[in-house]
Amino acid sequence: MQASLLLVDDDPKLVQLMGRLLGDLGRIRFATSGEAALRLARAERPDLILLDAEMPGMNGYDTCAALKAAPELNDVPVIFVTSHTDLDHEVQGFSVGAADFIHKPVSAPILRARVATQLRLKQLSDELRRLASTDALTDPPNRRAFDTVLDREWARSLREAQPLCALMVDVDRFKDYNDRYGHPAGDVCLHGVAQALRGALQRPTDLVARYGGEEFAVLLPNTSREGGCLIAQRMLQAVLDLRLAHERGVVDGIVSISIGVACSDEAPEQPGDAIAGEPAGADLMRRADRALYLAKQHGRGRAWMSESAPGAARPQFGESLRAGLDSAGQSS
Ligand code: GH3
Ligand code: MG
Ligand code: MG
Ligand code: MG
Repeated sequence: MQASLLLVDDDPKLVQLMGRLLGDLGRIRFATSGEAALRLARAERPDLILLDAEMPGMNGYDTCAALKAAPELNDVPVIFVTSHTDLDHEVQGFSVGAADFIHKPVSAPILRARVATQLRLKQLSDELRRLASTDALTDPPNRRAFDTVLDREWARSLREAQPLCALMVDVDRFKDYNDRYGHPAGDVCLHGVAQALRGALQRPTDLVARYGGEEFAVLLPNTSREGGCLIAQRMLQAVLDLRLAHERGVVDGIVSISIGVACSDEAPEQPGDAIAGEPAGADLMRRADRALYLAKQHGRGRAWMSESAPGAARPQFGESLRAGLDSAGQSS
């Protein structure tokens, strides 16, 4: 993908000149003030910013400090372009987070070399970040990333009094699949399952993660238990629709999954069930996991809805939905 550069200088002629010199290194946008630069950066995150230190109004240092204070922009590298050559200015620049300095008058080869270096570093660090939070095999975020989102969404669901649904998904008889078709084929199969699960989601806030082994966890913010069941059904179907042969599978000789569904609108567990120091929302995942166990126990290839804690009133629709889910599993 092409890099995006934001050039900022109150001298429009200099901005245009730099734009011509750098045109082949990425897509260029211009700003002639710090305020405009912040607006453009917020509208679309650039990969690199070249920032004039001396501008009327908001100068380069203030602009850089504002960029570094914005969580979504603070890792965008900033190269200062300045007519000052003294150390004090450079120190001031680095203290607000500058990645590098270029002196005016701008020399074309130095400008291009420094910009290319910063773009390469940015690309590397983006790639590292991506690898750290995703699973190379199936691409969805890994468990660590999932737990971070779970923490945030759990707090949000409490604050906004909105239900939060969690699904635990496990591929059926997957040991047998590996034994029969080999581990590499197993990996390809998991990749397909991950794609199918993601394809069943529609909201940008929904999340699928590789939870471990051949298990996936799904988080559905602002989603009622009915919504969670609907998504579970869609996922069951999406994986069957892959029609991946599995001789020893439980549904028609093709790969199937089992799902456990839990929703935060369910009564909480008994106080004794919580484990001290565990992350918020862990209880929700535990209930989804228990429901998954029940789905396995009752024949696999189906979803199971977590039930309310003993003694709590069970919502009337819980039963029928579960029956619906169950038959959805059996009919296929
Ligand atoms: P079931 O879930 O239906 O009870 O049976 P299962 O055979 O799938 O049992 P379980 O979920 O406990 O097995 C997990 C197996 O998944 C173990 C291992 O063989 C396989 N597995 C886990 N991670 C990977 C992976 O990354 N690649 C491949 N190919 N296989 C994996
Ligand atoms: Mg200036
Ligand atoms: Mg399994
Ligand atoms: Mg498993």
